[in-house]
Amino acid sequence: MKKIEVELFCPQCLENTVHRATCVGDFLLTLECSNCGKKTRVSRRVPVKELTQDFLERLMTKPLRITEELRRSPHKTLLSLPRRAITKPLRLMQEVMDDLGLLGRERKS
Ligand SMILES: [Zn+2]
Repeated sequence: MKKIEVELFCPQCLENTVHRATCVGDFLLTLECSNCGKKTRVSRRVPVKELTQDFLERLMTKPLRITEELRRSPHKTLLSLPRRAITKPLRLMQEVMDDLGLLGRERKS
């Protein structure tokens, strides 16, 4: 068992934070947000290398852009962004997490 640190979008902190990932062999076991402590158990076998490459890019592109804008000018961004633009990254995130079985939902396939 080994631990690595990866930057991921945390749905609880609503920003990219460092997550401690616990791996068994080449597969991911748990992810823990170092900011809020939210622990996510990876129910399906996700290869670590998948997490750190394409997966991360898919996961992070949109949330990252929006949180950066929020940091620069929170008021202006919040007022000018349509609601959908804010919830979209979260939906995308959930879809991706769900896809990988990160939400722990059982699926028969
Ligand atoms: Zn967090």
